[in-house]
Amino acid sequence: YVFDQIEAKEDKVHAYLDTYKKEAYARAKEVQKGIEDGTYTGPLAGVPIAIKDNICIKGKTTTCASKILENFVPQYNAEVIDRLEQAGLVIIGKTNMDEFAMGSTTETSAYGVTRNPWDLEHVPGGSSGGSCAAVAAGETYLALGSDTGGSIRQPSSYCGVTGIKPTYGTVSRYGLVAYASSLDQIGPVGKDVADCAALLEIIAGHDAKDSTSMKREDLDFSASMTDKIVGMKFGVPKEYLSEGLNPEVKEAFMNTLKSLTEMGAVVEFFSMKTTEYMIPAYYIIASAEASSNLERFDGVKYGFRAKEYEGLHDMYKKTRTEGFGEEVKRRIMLGSFVLSSGYYDAYYLKALRTKALIKKEFDQAFSKYDVLLAPASPFTAPKLGESLKDPLAMYLGDIYTVAVNLCGLPGITVPCGKDAAGLPIGIQMIGDCFKENNLFRAAHAYE
Ligand code: GLN
Repeated sequence: YVFDQIEAKEDKVHAYLDTYKKEAYARAKEVQKGIEDGTYTGPLAGVPIAIKDNICIKGKTTTCASKILENFVPQYNAEVIDRLEQAGLVIIGKTNMDEFAMGSTTETSAYGVTRNPWDLEHVPGGSSGGSCAAVAAGETYLALGSDTGGSIRQPSSYCGVTGIKPTYGTVSRYGLVAYASSLDQIGPVGKDVADCAALLEIIAGHDAKDSTSMKREDLDFSASMTDKIVGMKFGVPKEYLSEGLNPEVKEAFMNTLKSLTEMGAVVEFFSMKTTEYMIPAYYIIASAEASSNLERFDGVKYGFRAKEYEGLHDMYKKTRTEGFGEEVKRRIMLGSFVLSSGYYDAYYLKALRTKALIKKEFDQAFSKYDVLLAPASPFTAPKLGESLKDPLAMYLGDIYTVAVNLCGLPGITVPCGKDAAGLPIGIQMIGDCFKENNLFRAAHAYE
């Protein structure tokens, strides 16, 4: 079925950078046998899944949607890929994304834009836009994305699908090409909350190959979905509803608060004073880490190398100039600047201190509330081309998602309505660290 949809829609949507039809059919047959003889017993055995192109699959080109990795073929699987294979899922292809996951629209990809299946003139969001568009178009049932500052939650909102960013350390980052290592997490994208819970149960868990991976025992997410939400306490940061929030998104958001109250939950507003510092702190920290992580792409060890150059330094310079796109270069420059001597204290260190203050406010909020509610984005999916004109405006659109990464918190987006043009709107539920169960409980009851 999914390959029929791919054939019918991929020309227009362009969610994939690569598909593995033949192998997927062969694998599906093998898994079918495995189900019959008891090798695969899990609920997702035989289910097709698409993988964001910054997650390594052995023997498959992994480009991060960048020219600099156009011919990079990893020799190993990311930990999540091994886990999917052990559970019998069928990997059907690699999805498009913003180059190195830097962006909010999937337009910074070096291999063409992905379009929003709800309206092809609009972006799918980003950076996991390919994964979310593929699920929305029926071109897969499940997908993996990565989320550094909203890259699963925001495109899930724009595409009307469900996506979760787990607590930092829940899913192994081994084999995920690093953007900002202290913020990156891999997470599921699916049609509903139950699908995401089942997929997260497969990919979550300690991995000795990732030193930031946590040992957790509370990974039975599906169990929490039977609960009602009577008496659950929800908090809404009132600063999140101030200017800049599109009226239609606000209306859908307020309607959701009403439904939750009708279901017996308590919804309260509270003040989050650090809201205005979230975007600057995020972009300083994320760019700083990116500038360091992307040093390794120098034309020597991986992928692309410039054709003509004179000497080693010139080779580095030309390779990186030709290999990286505009947005990636902007982040490398910003990151190198805030880490350079003389500016380190003024910017990077200050951003780290700000992050600690933000974390403190979230801790206070979670002493009162089980779950915090926020829009996933201030607006619905922008038209193609609009966001590239003004990167700063695009950065500001990340206001509701980035603090979750700075604080390592889990966050889920579920659809909560549509605007007048028929574009989906999502609501974001944010939990305390290691409290995914609260998110699954609330999101499942609401959806
Ligand atoms: N839009 C944000 C950025 O460009 C988030 C991206 C992400 O989560 N990978 O950094």
